[in-house]
Amino acid sequence: MNPILVLGGGPAGLSAAGELAAIGAPTLLVERESYLGGNPVRWQYSLLAPDLHPAEDVMGPLLRRVEGSASIERRLGTTLVSAERSAKGYRVGLKNADTVETREVSAVILATGFDHFDSRRKFEYGYGRYPDVLDFKEVEKMLHEDRIVRPSDGQPPKRIAWILCVGSRDVQVGNPWCCRMGCVVSIKQAVEVRQKHPEIDAYVYYMDIRTYGLWEDLYWKSMQDHGVKFIRGRIGQVTLAEGGSRLLATGEDTILSRPTEVPFDMIILASGMEPSAGTRDVASLFGLPVGPEGFLTPRESDLNPVDSGIPGLFLAGAATGPKAIPDAVTEGMGAALRAYQYARD
Ligand code: SF4
Repeated sequence: MNPILVLGGGPAGLSAAGELAAIGAPTLLVERESYLGGNPVRWQYSLLAPDLHPAEDVMGPLLRRVEGSASIERRLGTTLVSAERSAKGYRVGLKNADTVETREVSAVILATGFDHFDSRRKFEYGYGRYPDVLDFKEVEKMLHEDRIVRPSDGQPPKRIAWILCVGSRDVQVGNPWCCRMGCVVSIKQAVEVRQKHPEIDAYVYYMDIRTYGLWEDLYWKSMQDHGVKFIRGRIGQVTLAEGGSRLLATGEDTILSRPTEVPFDMIILASGMEPSAGTRDVASLFGLPVGPEGFLTPRESDLNPVDSGIPGLFLAGAATGPKAIPDAVTEGMGAALRAYQYARD
């Protein structure tokens, strides 16, 4: 059997590759970055929401299973540049540095993931201009290292605000969808800050809180056990205050129906999820259908969310929409099974 190509080395791709190896299928794992692990490794995720497990406890086993397998050929720093149907599977071109290699593969799993919204597009929040306005993915590294300081002066903040739905549920930037993870990850970060530094005040500005299913528990605990404060409202802009030493969040408190203006030492933006550059590329290379949001579209999202509807092409993880790590891992397993069935028959 020609190898099954897994494109993308994040949680879904690692899960798929590991599962294929466990079945005994030859596997070719291709990742455009120079490392495996996707966004959790890239941004050094700290604790994972909602259970507050260290990210290493999840990513470590996924990585070790792939790195310890003799039946998985790993190709890092490599991109897919061409794809065409062959007798059974696909003939693909893989580019590494200046070299393009052609390979025959029996099936393809697309686990190309997501990119975080570039918060500079919300110019009014000052991301990229004010050093103490951060993106929540950057705060993960701070939490991971337990070094919560203002980038502007290296001092610990006294008061932090999180602004939810940045680049999500926002037709002005062309992203009307909900990012699914922004609420729970922001709340998790606020809890982590309060656990480690109870002297820091934590405020969350929200439109509504979407901690679906059992995740709601963390929302209530964040208020009752950790003293996180929630303000329903929209922040219209962030400016400098107090001679440039603090940030001023200006907007409307929609419960009290009145304007609000509060100084903070640090502001953290919950940036949404968008289709990754890799996801857009593979959609074009394979002629795959995409939804209006640009994510890949399974043929039957209810019955078979890992089947693209094109023979030999399977989907997993956030390439099909915003997703939590456990969901991405589960889809990786499903896609591995379906790809193996296809390649074997
Ligand atoms: S998950 Fe929360 S932060 Fe993300 S778009 Fe939905 S409501 Fe906004």
